[in-house]
Amino acid sequence: MLNIFDHIPQGLLDLESDQLWQLLDCPALIHLEGDRQPALFVSILLHGNETTSWLAMRELLRKYQNQKLPRSLSLFIGNIQAAKYRLRHLEDQPDYNRIWQIGESANTLPEQAMAQAVIAEMRSRGVFASIDIHNNTGRNPHYGCITRLDNHSRHLARLFAKTVVYYTSPKTVQSYAFAELCPTIVLECGQPDKPDGTAHALEYVDTCLNLDSFDSLPDSAIADIDLFHTVAIVKVPESIKFSFTENPDDDITFPADMDCLNFQELAIGTKFGKAKTDQAYLSAVSEEGEEKCDRYFQITDGEIILKKAVMPSMISLNPKIVRQDCLCYLMERLTS
Ligand SMILES: [Zn+2]
Repeated sequence: MLNIFDHIPQGLLDLESDQLWQLLDCPALIHLEGDRQPALFVSILLHGNETTSWLAMRELLRKYQNQKLPRSLSLFIGNIQAAKYRLRHLEDQPDYNRIWQIGESANTLPEQAMAQAVIAEMRSRGVFASIDIHNNTGRNPHYGCITRLDNHSRHLARLFAKTVVYYTSPKTVQSYAFAELCPTIVLECGQPDKPDGTAHALEYVDTCLNLDSFDSLPDSAIADIDLFHTVAIVKVPESIKFSFTENPDDDITFPADMDCLNFQELAIGTKFGKAKTDQAYLSAVSEEGEEKCDRYFQITDGEIILKKAVMPSMISLNPKIVRQDCLCYLMERLTS
């Protein structure tokens, strides 16, 4: 279920992300030759509803249509079937950003085998850096996420934004797998379809294509990074009903404008939502996979309040995304 090209399929750049299925019936890896080697790897539409990645790369490829790229580019177009319906993934599909490592179980999904084929192909060709472009659904600033703290990773992130998030879980994401091969980054470009997100991602990829090496960048360039570390992923347990509007059936009611808490350093005691009973807990799983809800939350007088100073990110007001992915991540500032 992987098509490999050495050119841009005719007519591809005329399509919107929800039309790519007309030319591509499965994920595609497109190798384009440029002046410098090895190639920059860019993955897009791992989540079918996150359109900024396609809009930015389509514009970049149009720009270089009649001139050679400054560096070779390998473009991976992921979940084309979900993009058709503008969904993160289809009901019968795995999340395409959770397929990049094969687990213990004997059954390898076709999507996992496809991801391994992409990794093997890029390992044999060599990779300069890997950029995976995403959107999120709540209000968030643009920021980069890295899975390693070496200077090359920091430079890659600082070229995009001052705010950088370091995370090491889940290990099934594309950027974690590619970190074995090269510096990697996940770009979080705000909400889909916004011109500023498209422009920022386009300008960033263009900058990376024009980069000679990471060693030529001065250490001073990464001195001002605001570095945060993900400490927990917060989910609403399956059995617990919730919404963002007052509803008597709900076990938890979150504030209607809760996404304004994203990237705010919150004090102990900050309210996270109303709980109907003491059983209406939030799950907070650490990077090591341990349930730590008691470390971060307590219920007092029907309110879920923070027990620890943290900074949330990726709070989504979309109940479907909250169910499919998470309510948010919790982060703490890293000083080194
Ligand atoms: Zn995404």
